[in-house]
Amino acid sequence: MKPLAELTWPQVARAVAEGVTTVILPLGATEQHGPHLPLGTDTVRARALAEGLAERLPVLVAPALPIGCSDEHGGFAGLLSLEAETLAAVIADCARRMADWGATRLVVLSAHGGNGRALALAEARLRRELPELALWIPDAATVCGDAVRAVAAADGIAVEAVGLHAGEGETSELLHLCPEQVRMQEAVPGYTGDMEEGLSRLVQAGTRALNADGVVGDPRSADAGRGQRYLSAQVARYESALAERLAAEATTSGSVPA
Ligand SMILES: [Zn+2]
Repeated sequence: MKPLAELTWPQVARAVAEGVTTVILPLGATEQHGPHLPLGTDTVRARALAEGLAERLPVLVAPALPIGCSDEHGGFAGLLSLEAETLAAVIADCARRMADWGATRLVVLSAHGGNGRALALAEARLRRELPELALWIPDAATVCGDAVRAVAAADGIAVEAVGLHAGEGETSELLHLCPEQVRMQEAVPGYTGDMEEGLSRLVQAGTRALNADGVVGDPRSADAGRGQRYLSAQVARYESALAERLAAEATTSGSVPA
């Protein structure tokens, strides 16, 4: 299925009538990704994951929201960020309109970790205000974490290099998706200590306190082919989890698992 924004309204109406009633809303961000990756990195990744899923499952893909909750990247030029309440309200507003034209399930696919509080607020609000809309807000680390680590391990890439932000992982993905936007000559190693500790310091004090370049990981060994495998591994994980939900919906009348 083509992205929602490239379809006409009769095409969407027909798809809904034929049972395509799941919509994916990809969430990106506009925030620093080190000296070598573009600010829109998470938006590019969110769109790619959602469109990858749409190639395999009967789903509609809404335009990726290009601004998320990114204040942990304060102090770097180019930042755009929403308050968690604002992003939650945007998600809820979009969900309500989707439900009006026949969507029965919303998948909020966030490619940016900082959106967590907004997602929790949106979830609470939608379950209260729109209980008939089945909602799935997957946690990327839970659904995809070990699949991504397996790809890295197969190539001998350490988790400290893959990193959490603008490291080998995201850089490889961008080398696959939009190599013309990656400045490998500017790629420098960032924080490469324990990633759990790095994450808690990042959340508490911001990325700038962790690394002056804004990099958590080491992007220098990034590779486009591995980036493609990272993305495929994530799409496969999301696909099997979502396919289970769609199958349950097809066989169950009445109560639908969220
Ligand atoms: Zn990112």
